[in-house]
Amino acid sequence: MENVDCVVVGAGVVGLACARALAEAGREVLVLEAESAVGTATSARNSEVIHAGLYYPPGSLKARLCVRGRDLLYAYCAARHVAHRRCGKLVVASAPDEVPALQALRARARANGVDDLQWLDAAAVQALEPALAAHAALQSPSTGIVDSHGLMQALWADAEAAGATLVLRTPLAQAHCNSDGLVLRTGGADPMSLRCRTLVNAAGLQACQVAAMVLGPDSPWVPHPHYAKGAYFSLAGRAPFSHLVYPAPSDSGHLGVHLTLDLGGQARFGPSFRWVDAIDYSVSPEEAAGFEEAIRHYWPSLPAHSLQPAYAGVRPRISGPDAPAADFHIDGPAQHGVAGLVNLLGIESPGLTAALAIGETVANLAGSTGPAQGLSPT
Ligand SMILES: Cc1cc2nc3c(=O)[nH]c(=O)nc-3n(C[C@H](O)[C@H](O)[C@H](O)COP(=O)(O)OP(=O)(O)OC[C@H]3O[C@@H](n4cnc5c(N)ncnc54)[C@H](O)[C@@H]3O)c2cc1C
Repeated sequence: MENVDCVVVGAGVVGLACARALAEAGREVLVLEAESAVGTATSARNSEVIHAGLYYPPGSLKARLCVRGRDLLYAYCAARHVAHRRCGKLVVASAPDEVPALQALRARARANGVDDLQWLDAAAVQALEPALAAHAALQSPSTGIVDSHGLMQALWADAEAAGATLVLRTPLAQAHCNSDGLVLRTGGADPMSLRCRTLVNAAGLQACQVAAMVLGPDSPWVPHPHYAKGAYFSLAGRAPFSHLVYPAPSDSGHLGVHLTLDLGGQARFGPSFRWVDAIDYSVSPEEAAGFEEAIRHYWPSLPAHSLQPAYAGVRPRISGPDAPAADFHIDGPAQHGVAGLVNLLGIESPGLTAALAIGETVANLAGSTGPAQGLSPT
C-alpha cells in the first residue's frame, strides 16, 4: 500500500484548483481522474461565464465564494494569460411587471458586496443594445467570460510545477477510514491501494457516491444526488448583442434562457432546466420551439429557424424538485466526523467562477489543523 499526503478525486476545474492550492501550500498531491483527460464533465459543459455574484442568498457559500472567486479568477487569467473578457451583462425587464424583480436583484447584489450595478432605463438600453426589447435593465460590468479549457490547463500546469501528480483512467472505486487514516482502492486497468491523510472529494456529478464510499450511504452527510439537465442552442450568424443578456429573475430557481457569448463572438442560448434521472448529454432539436419563445421575450426579432442544437450539461444538485437550490457544501470533520475528508457537494453554478476560492478554502482547511474541519455559510 502506498502512502500519499493528499488525494484529490476528480480533475474538473474544482479538483484542479484544489490540487494547485494544496500543492502550492507544500502538500504532496495525487489527483485521481476516472476519464482519459482532465475537465471532460461539467467543467466542459457550462456557459463559461464569470459571474459577478448577484443571485445567491447573502452569506451563503455560493455568494461568498463567487465574489471572492471572481476577483481571484480575473487576476489569475491576467497573470497566466488565460483567454477571458470582461464583456458585462444586462439583466432585462421586458415589461413593467418585471421591474420589481430587477430591484430585488439589485438589493441582493448589494448585500453580496456587488455594488457596481447600473440601472438603465429603456432609452439607455436601446442606445447600448438596439435589438433588445427592454423596459429597464441592470448592467453588471464585472460579469465576463473565460476559456474554461485554457483555465484548466493553466491550473494543472501550476499544480504539476508544484509537484502534483495526475493519474487518468483511474476512478476511485472504494474508500474507508480506519485508525491508520483514509484507505483507498482505485479501479481501472491498474488498480492501486493507497493510504492518505487528506482526501478531497471533487467528483462533481459523482461526489455524493464518493462521499457514500467513506461515510456509508445512510449517513446524514451524504445527500441524495439530483440531476438537472441544461441544453444549449447556438445561433447561426452574427451575435446580435455585445453584452451577455439574461431575463429578469423568476421564481423558477434558475436563471432562465439567456444569451452568452464565447470568446470567438459566437452567441448561444441556454441552459434550459429539466430534472433527469440519469446523465444524458443529448440535445433534441424539438426543444428549439421553447427556446424561441423564451428568447423572443427580450429579442423579438430572433430570425426563424436560426437555432441549432449545441450541447448540454448536467447540474449536480443536492436538493430536489420540491426544495430551493441548496448551497455549496464544503463538509469536513466538523460536519461528518471523519478526519482528513473534505466533501465538495452540490458544486453547480457558480462553481467555475468560484473554483479558485474553493481551492483556497480547501487548502486553508486542510493546512490549518492538519485534517480539514469544513466550512459553513455565515
Ligand atoms: C449547464 C451548466 C452551466 C453552467 N454555467 C456556469 C457558468 O457560466 N459559470 C459558472 O461559474 N459555473 C457554471 N456552471 C457550474 C460549473 O460548470 C461547475 O460548478 C464546475 O464545472 C464543477 O466543476 P467540478 O470540478 O466540481 O466538477 P466536474 O467538472 O464534473 O469534474 C468532476 C470530475 O470528477 C471525475 N470523477 C467522478 N467520479 C470519479 C471517481 N470515482 N474517481 C475519479 N474521478 C471521478 C469526473 O470524471 C470529472 O472529471 C454551470 C454548470 C452547468 C451544468
